[in-house]
Amino acid sequence: MNIDHKKLVNRVQGTGDFISIDNTKCTLCERCLVICVMNLWKKRDGTVYIVEDYTSQCLECGACAQVCETDAIEFRFPAGGTGIVIEQG
Ligand code: SF4
Ligand code: SF4
Repeated sequence: MNIDHKKLVNRVQGTGDFISIDNTKCTLCERCLVICVMNLWKKRDGTVYIVEDYTSQCLECGACAQVCETDAIEFRFPAGGTGIVIEQG
């Protein structure tokens, strides 16, 4: 069964950035690319990065930061009152 994860949540604008990567710690293991259900992590020219508009797609699950063994990814929940609101689940 295909699930459109975007339909599971409503979004409140104004999160600001809440995910960052320290590329000096990144080993290019690609665990974040594999775990992200929204496919927001990319690898190009030997660099891993998160897509520019991730704040409008991210489900705030924190999985990318959890699987990163070198703590290269910093995740914090968006400021209160912004971000996703779970509609179904
Ligand atoms: S999980 Fe961490 S170390 Fe691995 S590619 Fe992603 S940011 Fe880099
Ligand atoms: S928090 Fe979850 S949805 Fe957002 S980028 Fe990380 S793994 Fe993907």
